Amino acid sequence: AATDLEQIVSLCKRRGFVYQSAEIYGGFRSTYDYGPLGSLLLRNVKEAWIRSMVQQRDDVVLIDAAILSPPQVWQASGHLANFSDPLVDCTNCKNRFRLDKLDDPDTCPSCGEKNSFTEAREFNLMFKTQAGPVEGTGADAYLRPETAQGMFTNFAQVLQTSRKKPPFGIAQVGKSFRNEITPQNWIFRTREFEQMEMEFFVPPEDSDKWYEYWCNERLNWYIEHGIPAEMVMLRPHDDDELSHYSTGTSDVEFEFPWGFDELEGIAKRTDFDLKAHAAVSGERLDYFDPQTNERYVPYVIEPAAGATRTMAAFLLAAYDEDEINGETRTVLRLHPRLSPYKVAVLPLSKKDTLTPLAHEVRKLLADRYMVDYDETQNIGKRYRRQDEIGTPLAVTVDFDSLDDNAVTIRDRDTTEQVRVPIDELLTTVSERLGF
Ligand code: ATP
Repeated sequence: AATDLEQIVSLCKRRGFVYQSAEIYGGFRSTYDYGPLGSLLLRNVKEAWIRSMVQQRDDVVLIDAAILSPPQVWQASGHLANFSDPLVDCTNCKNRFRLDKLDDPDTCPSCGEKNSFTEAREFNLMFKTQAGPVEGTGADAYLRPETAQGMFTNFAQVLQTSRKKPPFGIAQVGKSFRNEITPQNWIFRTREFEQMEMEFFVPPEDSDKWYEYWCNERLNWYIEHGIPAEMVMLRPHDDDELSHYSTGTSDVEFEFPWGFDELEGIAKRTDFDLKAHAAVSGERLDYFDPQTNERYVPYVIEPAAGATRTMAAFLLAAYDEDEINGETRTVLRLHPRLSPYKVAVLPLSKKDTLTPLAHEVRKLLADRYMVDYDETQNIGKRYRRQDEIGTPLAVTVDFDSLDDNAVTIRDRDTTEQVRVPIDELLTTVSERLGF
């Protein structure tokens, strides 16, 4: 694993995973753009989540709700009243901090001055904007600070159209926006980020059971996707940490270079959200159980993860340096499902004689997998590049290939090489990747 965040930040910049946003204009602070490799990695993180949370189950459905939303949503959810952080300014160095994140609330972490903070002011984290063409006359709208509310506002419609009944879940992946006071640690905390959230609706008496279930499922998901078990843990919240809606929360924490920190929160939200939306909207948001002839408002268990933050964790955990023939190499040991490219096709030489066959091989693989094609520099350097971006397999097309119709597959982790007939290439690649 990486011991220093800078190892990953610089690799990501050098290889095209993550760039500072608007860098040609000096960069827009704490916003990031995902480059050719980062966009693929981020997409794979989200797809791995959807695969586990939706595809492999029969009790969760996916939605994609709007980012812009009217004030009523955030009035009902409690965000207009409660979604704020206590903000203090240092009267000496003029820097601004979140009071609840200060190690020592009496000492400025920037200039070291004692008792130099102003009174704390509550600062609402939502981005407010106007819907409508003429400035000042439009209706107020908010960029969503979480994806969760889309699951509650669509609860009745999903229930009706999907033929699901509790226990069942509604999942969503997408962008959220928070006007964070102190965005920091690269893509760990940014003002624009992506979340992967699921609201699981259950009969109230089963809430504790499902909470335990989802805490374990979610912890295991990170381990199954390549994070070493000793780098992740579940941390139950103390009572004074709980949000206004929660009767129990555990965070999945990952060992970042600065210590264990949150990747995901799993919360028991009771019937808080459905009841609040029912009260504000006047709509009925409950479930009629035809078996018992009873009507009830389901309780909710919510696993809420960050896709961009999780991507940082996967990169940090995958980072490794080892020695090959006396030379140090950097390798990203990403789980094959997460790797931006699954296979690299590398013709041994740029000569015209090899190019047609190499492209045939590329096409064959690209029908099923994301493939990189690279014919510049010597083969050793090209292997190193693929190791550094986490490509699990490299396929070399050489001059013998023209005669024996076979290619060489090289494994990222072991660097072992085997010769495989082109006819069997897809099957072999699929066996090695596991999909
Ligand atoms: P924090 O205490 O770190 O501000 P939170 O507890 O408010 O986070 P949640 O509201 O539970 O976070 O959001 C669920 C998940 O969304 C978090 O675990 C995190 O992975 C992600 N997330 C939240 N805020 C940000 C952010 N500003 N940048 C990147 N990811 C975020």
